[in-house]
Amino acid sequence: MRTPLIAGNWKMHGTIAESEERVASLLPRISTAEHVDVAVCVPFTALQAVVDSSRGSRLGVFAQNVHWEPQGPYTGEISVPMLTEIEVGGVVVGHSERRQLFGETDKHLQLKVPAALSAGLQVILCVGETEEERENGDTERRLRHQVQEGLEKVETDRLGDVVIAYEPIWAIGTGQTATPEQAQEALAFVRALVADRSKEQAERSRILYGGSMKPDNAEELLALPDCDGGLIGGASLDVAQFTAIVEAAPRA
Ligand code: PEP
Repeated sequence: MRTPLIAGNWKMHGTIAESEERVASLLPRISTAEHVDVAVCVPFTALQAVVDSSRGSRLGVFAQNVHWEPQGPYTGEISVPMLTEIEVGGVVVGHSERRQLFGETDKHLQLKVPAALSAGLQVILCVGETEEERENGDTERRLRHQVQEGLEKVETDRLGDVVIAYEPIWAIGTGQTATPEQAQEALAFVRALVADRSKEQAERSRILYGGSMKPDNAEELLALPDCDGGLIGGASLDVAQFTAIVEAAPRA
């Protein structure tokens, strides 16, 4: 059995004060939720405060990017030891906004994923196709490339530790959700790609759906056979909506 993971991606929303307020409101609401893991991906400057506020709770605190080198001449970057020093628990990498707007490539991810994993960080690797790729029938080709490249340098016995978020780019922040059929087909395909390396590890892999997941569509998506949780953008900024999605996961 895979424990579902509901991860909120706060993106570039939240000063330290706003993040503390949001997490203070969230913690009591998720304290009794069982059979679901919960995490939030927090802006760098608020990480320390959110780690401190949530110490001893069940909330995972994740960063939104990381460099693969432990240190060096990489202006503007943050390394794995910098995150582990302040007890950050994980990191989301390869988000389509980083790929499309900031030039992150599959080659970068090939280095980031094992660097983060080997230091004990949980990793969420995002993959997903553009609208044009879907229309041209290129979804599987795109996903194959992203999953194979992103996991290439991960040792086989650690493959199942990598959470993969399938996020169709056309569904992110648009209010346009993949249909359950589209989502299940892609989630199962992602799992099959992991199974090409190891069937055993593919059974352990948590594959999330992301893209306009909201309280009113969460249960249907989370109930899909290959859906092990959600990566939530917009709705994660609203504590009541995020909590409703967390509560839908074990029901589903
Ligand atoms: C995301 O950015 O990862 C995401 C899924 O955003 P939204 O839920 O707003 O579509």
